Amino acid sequence: MERANTAYYATRDPFADFTTAPEISQAFGEIIGLWAAVTWELLGRPAPVVLAEAGPGRGTLMADALRAIGRAAPAFHAALQAHLVESSPRLRAIQAERLPDATWHGAVADLPELPTVLIANEFLDALPIRQFVRRPAGWMERFVSGGQFVELPAEDPPDAPDCDPELGGVVEVGPAALDIAGQLGRRFAGLPGAALVLDYGPERSIAGDSLQALAHGRPADPLASPGEADLTAHVDFAAIAAAALRQGASVHGPIPQGVFLTRLGLFQRTDRLARGQPPARAMALLDSARRLAEPDHMGRLFKTLAICSPQCATPPGFEV
Ligand code: SAH
Repeated sequence: MERANTAYYATRDPFADFTTAPEISQAFGEIIGLWAAVTWELLGRPAPVVLAEAGPGRGTLMADALRAIGRAAPAFHAALQAHLVESSPRLRAIQAERLPDATWHGAVADLPELPTVLIANEFLDALPIRQFVRRPAGWMERFVSGGQFVELPAEDPPDAPDCDPELGGVVEVGPAALDIAGQLGRRFAGLPGAALVLDYGPERSIAGDSLQALAHGRPADPLASPGEADLTAHVDFAAIAAAALRQGASVHGPIPQGVFLTRLGLFQRTDRLARGQPPARAMALLDSARRLAEPDHMGRLFKTLAICSPQCATPPGFEV
């Protein structure tokens, strides 16, 4: 999965295959930028501060966020340095056109040791997973060999006692995502910081095979043409939260993305953008906001989780 996605992001335009929230409406990045500004206040206004994004795609979210921050939170704007974590040279070049002043890194671990607010939208879902299958004889791990799935006895099976062998239950573990969650937890336990993770996945861990491939904008066989399809898996938010907590951070959520965006004014901002526009444009703006927030679109499957320094008050949108 890692090799296939590295090749995919290095050679393809992923946005020909799928559309992400920042590409749907500018209000998404603006709201997240203002979330970062308020969270920075809650962290005690550290300066300098790193405003980081992991997996920034076309750079749209960060560009929208920085514009909103520049207008509404000039003190944060003056204190921040934009840092991007991106493995694809091709996407780095696209990001550099919109964000010429940013600094790039290959991994979250390479970000400078400074107070940090990090955003990750549809990043963790692209990281490689392991799949374990419960068979009557015991746990097997699924590998890819000769272009096919093969199962070998698992050396370090997951702790999933409820998984039913008769149903051939699959359990997924995302070591790369858990490692990043642990790194962020450790970072924020030591230095003021917060991360906002937005991605799709269930609130609680559930057994099941969520590996999916998209090629040419359509669902595809994940093994059919490695490197030509986008491979993703659902993010296990409960496991991500637990990994960050273990390292001493606090976590808030996950809550549905629709709840988060609506609380932070998605529809008010959309009304403002629509004011004075021709009716067709105003309708299109409202449709985009609905796509992001309504439960039968992205509003429920997508979740939002915050990982924060333990002294940080509840960040905006996560109040219970
Ligand atoms: N956040 C963007 C793009 C999502 S696509 C948006 O919402 O539009 C996933 C992004 O993560 C791409 O920029 C991809 O190149 C990057 N990416 C995937 N795996 C990565 C890895 N292991 N390290 C760094 N970046 C990675």
